Amino acid sequence: MGILYQNEEDITNIQLQSMKGFEGVEKRLQLDFISIDNTKGLRALSRKQIEQILMAARCTIVSELSSSDVDTYVLSESSLFIYPFKLIMKTCGTTKLLNAVPVILGLSSGLCLDVKCCMYTRCSYLFPEEQTYPHESFAQEVKYLDGLFGNLGAGRQACVLGGPCKKQNWHIYIASVDCAEDSGISFPIYTLEICMTDLDRTRAAHFYKSNCSNAAEMTQKSGISMLLPQSQICDYGFDPCGYSMNSVESSAVATIHVTPEQGFSYASFEAMGYDPNYVDFKALIDNVLLCFKPALCSVAVHIKGFQTSWCSSSLWGSSISPRGYVSDHFSMEKLPGDYIVYFHTFAEQVFDRQSSVATCLDQLTVEQITDLRSASLKLSGELSCDMPLTSKLSKNVSDNVVSNIYCCLLASTQCCSTFAVQHVVSAMDPMMVGSKPVDLDNLIKKHIDSTRREDAFYVMDVGVVLRLWRTWKLSLPRVHPFYAVKCNCNVPLLALLSALGAGFDVASKSELDLVRSLGVGGDRVIFANPCKLPSHIRHAANHNVHLTTFDSEGELYKLHKLNPQAEVVLRIRVCDSGARCPLGVKYGAEMNECEHLLAVAKELGLQVVGVAFHVGSGASDPSSFAHGIAQARQLFDVAKSMGLTCMRLLDIGGGFVSDGGFGVSFSAAASSINEALEKFFPPSLGITVIAEPGRFFAEESFTLAAQIFGNRIRQKEGLEIAEYWINDGIYGSMNCLLYDHAKLLVRGLHVSSAQGKEGCQSTVFGPTCDGLDTVMQNIWLPRLDCGDWLVFPRMGAYTAAAASSFNGFNICGFETLCVLSTS
Ligand code: PLP
Repeated sequence: MGILYQNEEDITNIQLQSMKGFEGVEKRLQLDFISIDNTKGLRALSRKQIEQILMAARCTIVSELSSSDVDTYVLSESSLFIYPFKLIMKTCGTTKLLNAVPVILGLSSGLCLDVKCCMYTRCSYLFPEEQTYPHESFAQEVKYLDGLFGNLGAGRQACVLGGPCKKQNWHIYIASVDCAEDSGISFPIYTLEICMTDLDRTRAAHFYKSNCSNAAEMTQKSGISMLLPQSQICDYGFDPCGYSMNSVESSAVATIHVTPEQGFSYASFEAMGYDPNYVDFKALIDNVLLCFKPALCSVAVHIKGFQTSWCSSSLWGSSISPRGYVSDHFSMEKLPGDYIVYFHTFAEQVFDRQSSVATCLDQLTVEQITDLRSASLKLSGELSCDMPLTSKLSKNVSDNVVSNIYCCLLASTQCCSTFAVQHVVSAMDPMMVGSKPVDLDNLIKKHIDSTRREDAFYVMDVGVVLRLWRTWKLSLPRVHPFYAVKCNCNVPLLALLSALGAGFDVASKSELDLVRSLGVGGDRVIFANPCKLPSHIRHAANHNVHLTTFDSEGELYKLHKLNPQAEVVLRIRVCDSGARCPLGVKYGAEMNECEHLLAVAKELGLQVVGVAFHVGSGASDPSSFAHGIAQARQLFDVAKSMGLTCMRLLDIGGGFVSDGGFGVSFSAAASSINEALEKFFPPSLGITVIAEPGRFFAEESFTLAAQIFGNRIRQKEGLEIAEYWINDGIYGSMNCLLYDHAKLLVRGLHVSSAQGKEGCQSTVFGPTCDGLDTVMQNIWLPRLDCGDWLVFPRMGAYTAAAASSFNGFNICGFETLCVLSTS
């Protein structure tokens, strides 16, 4: 980070920096208070008093941002956050953060505030020998803090997580009045801190004034603006380089500090107060690392109130594995004050075959690459799928060729027909795009500019579908996906899944016709609607679709009459009570009804071939799948005892969510399923296992872009609220708000207006004349104008599929643009 030089002592800093390097690693102090009688708490501190605190630590304010919950300050060396009863101060360089503590204590006692908890944390210094008292060593820091807080009620703890030979260790001092039992916390508070060293040079280059003239440009170009897209950002660019920002979103805050100079480059990210039910921490960590690409990083997650929370080490432990990084260390520690900390270090994954791959690609001629089949054969043995290909290929190769090679590489790892995948992707002619939201936004903007389009449209990312396919195959190798067409019947998506080898779950005659039109044979289809229309049963039978589910006696009689060849699968009721869309109220036989149903099927001479269940769409509990598998096993045994000899299929339904969505973590669901399959259906039994995922493949693969065609500003309690009308809404794609209980994500896209400074609270309406047609309220958006656009990621599941044309708006037949991201 850059330095503001102020006095004689700072001159030493200049010398220090020129000789060695700047110490980017921050010291972090968090003090929580209880009030005796002052309701305004610390926010009553005057500017002068705040400056007094900063002077003791030797830093100054360079910019600030306040919300109704918190005052935030960007400092010459990092950040300060003042809540009514919490103060967080982070300072880097050779500042003396702890010297500020007595000043804070003096001022807070003047406000009738008592310290409830003191937490001091930091990563290992890059230049420990440059620190001065009281920061010369961790022991010295602890002694200093003990002198002030050592006697708080529940005791204190000081520890270092990591290892003696590690470059990045995590130092924690905590002293608290609270015992775990009486922390009085009803929901946990999460603090995520990431420290990164050895930043990628091109990423670090964004933080030089010579490359980006101001802080806003640095925020934009680095991808920082997309990390927490709803937050309000206050950023600052130092001379000649370096960057700091604070951001606020209700009571949650984030902060980033960057020292970009080679040799001692460093960046830190912190997010505090975000709820992991709404912000996917894993995706956030991935995205932060993408902004800086450090060679080494540490991730510390502190959770206050872990006793009352559902969190467990399986969530914050080994399942945190950022893309492109390998784990170097993991540890956790319970701390006084109802705290727990999970600490990881990661090192960038190095592809040792990188140079041979580059050489191989360099040697290919355009003709060779154009011959996709030979190129794929040539490359598949040599390339790691995670390598960015585009940069390696010469410029005269078209997007389409590159995308085909990329596809066949991804596909070839899964032993599917790579040629079929190439063929489908060729027909889509996708545009290549980077993997960051900002890359997609630029492409969307280009598309809008070049086509002058006004209608909303979808963007389908072929790369996401391919990667999800690979994730599925690697995580659930025994479970064959039968994509649930009802979730999104977009034809390119169906065609791609078909080429990859998926089967299909259809609910009706027209869904069946759609997959048939793509050349999918009856043996790759399950008619997974337990209560079918008679004409649909006949239609399916006429087209050799015999596999179907049932959960009632009546359905068996219908099937016996209309398709005696049917292969029936008993759907049982297995419920995840926390699922986003529970299905158990309507479907699934109770366990005590099953024996009778099996007996009726036997008597009618229908072939019972298996058991199915669906835990509910958007499941929340991985164990619900295991429970279903165990129940199914019981029924296989019952069927056997009744002399039903054709049992060969287990269908574990849907409920899956890809990483970054709201619901059960895919890896947790997969391990629960794999374990239960091993126990109840070991491979030796020869049972085929299928699933019916819809949301898993569709949700993340589609982004929606909608145009703003009306706006106004309203005043509410002295605040400006922006109201926007867009050309899609509750009766169109956003029907998911009602029917799918969706939570939308959104970001603004300046197309007709220039980027302004200040955003504001905003409301977004759909186009129809119904007041219900309100898409989002109280969200933070940049100031936008008519002709600007809103971009909604993760809009592929149960959106267009259930849209109508109410009020005469064409909101159910949007165009889909295909792109292919290659991260
Ligand atoms: N299978 C059946 C029978 C369904 O009813 C559904 C969704 O309602 C699905 C599969 C798709 O499940 P999901 O949305 O969890 O992917």
